[in-house]
Amino acid sequence: MGIKVAKFGGSSLADAEHFRKVKAIIESDPDYRYVVPSAPGKRFDGDTKVTDLLYQCHRLVESGRSHEEPFRKIAERYTQIAAELELDFDVTGMLNETSEAIRRYKNPDFAASRGEYMNGVILSKYLDWDFIDAQDVIKFDRQGSFAAEWTNEVMGEALKNHSRAVIPGFYGSYPNGDVHTFSRGGSDITGAIVARAACADVYVNWTDVSGFMMADPRIVKDPKIIRELSYAELRELSYMGATVLHEDAIFPVHKAGIPTNIRNTNAPQDPGTMIVMKTSGDRENGQVITGIAGHKNFSLLSIEKAMMNSELGFGRRVLQALEDFGVSFEHLPTGIDTMSVVIADKELVTRKDQIIQRIQQTCQPDTIEISAGIALIATVGHGMSRTPGTAAKLFNALYEAGVNIRMIDQGSSEMNIIVGINIEDFETAMNAIYRAFVKD
Ligand code: ASP
Repeated sequence: MGIKVAKFGGSSLADAEHFRKVKAIIESDPDYRYVVPSAPGKRFDGDTKVTDLLYQCHRLVESGRSHEEPFRKIAERYTQIAAELELDFDVTGMLNETSEAIRRYKNPDFAASRGEYMNGVILSKYLDWDFIDAQDVIKFDRQGSFAAEWTNEVMGEALKNHSRAVIPGFYGSYPNGDVHTFSRGGSDITGAIVARAACADVYVNWTDVSGFMMADPRIVKDPKIIRELSYAELRELSYMGATVLHEDAIFPVHKAGIPTNIRNTNAPQDPGTMIVMKTSGDRENGQVITGIAGHKNFSLLSIEKAMMNSELGFGRRVLQALEDFGVSFEHLPTGIDTMSVVIADKELVTRKDQIIQRIQQTCQPDTIEISAGIALIATVGHGMSRTPGTAAKLFNALYEAGVNIRMIDQGSSEMNIIVGINIEDFETAMNAIYRAFVKD
């Protein structure tokens, strides 16, 4: 028998109907031993997440006003869930206590954490499983940084005493016991931490999509779901803007070598996406790429100087200028007498002229300019290194779509090819690359 840890997102626990789906999933597989719930999310477009209502409560309390109005909406949601599930449990008592504690503590993290806490209590009653309060087992240091090893020890010990338990997501505590939360979406992290401490065989992250898509569906119509990808590929894709999992959620499980499975609570029969240490290599119908992701709003700093290649320390002086102004860069493709640096626009806002001036002083280039309006697209996949002609196919697709390439960068792992293009070409380029590599 294996051990599985399941995390259910806010939309997977938004109402009683979803609680039933969750129970059916958990009961269908005895390997599920620990469950990490989020707070109830949106039930429909325009609905408000319980976590957002809790932050509203806190803001009102903080400014000396009554939080009755938003708390009433919160109370309605939990009362309805408990009533529809016919739970023999005093939800009203729990809600009154919570409302009073939010008023008394005046602490935003405490207020926000109650969404997960109350959902966790209700889910544990409904499943008839133990409840472990995350406040006791997820540890932050005094500065509020997550204390990974301390938590792993404390959590590992606690899990030994519970063969099945619900542990609410999103929060933990400072050394003095006060509640502290992760950033928004942080239940993903809690799930990964529990999976590591439980030495789970798999961390199953249940959400409202059937996995990680090969491209952003707002740009590419009906992109395919990625069946399997490695943690390294996921990192490349999420760095470039793809989102499904909270970024920090990858580290605990990646570190422990535990695969993550992204699944859809509303379509539990779908296999979802498996994120693994190393992909098996047999991509469906010979597909060489895993996914495409992109980001707008970059600038290209282009520098030219005759004989640059033989000038000792040239590159260092350019990068020193950036460092001196606290600017970090994304990519650094170089030619013999040219050097380009790709920088996110937000890094440059106030420092553009000073940087140019400094580089002029220290490097005396023949020409230097910064052009804005660049978008980056990363085409990612381990398969690319084994497949000749990948770059040719990519560039040809862009050529045929009439897209001018402003910059090319291929990581030394050959796991990705990044192209810089004009912002106006972003959507065209994404679609062209997708169509070139993905067969319907
Ligand atoms: N409920 C929290 C949020 O809305 C955490 C989470 O759902 O993961 O951000």
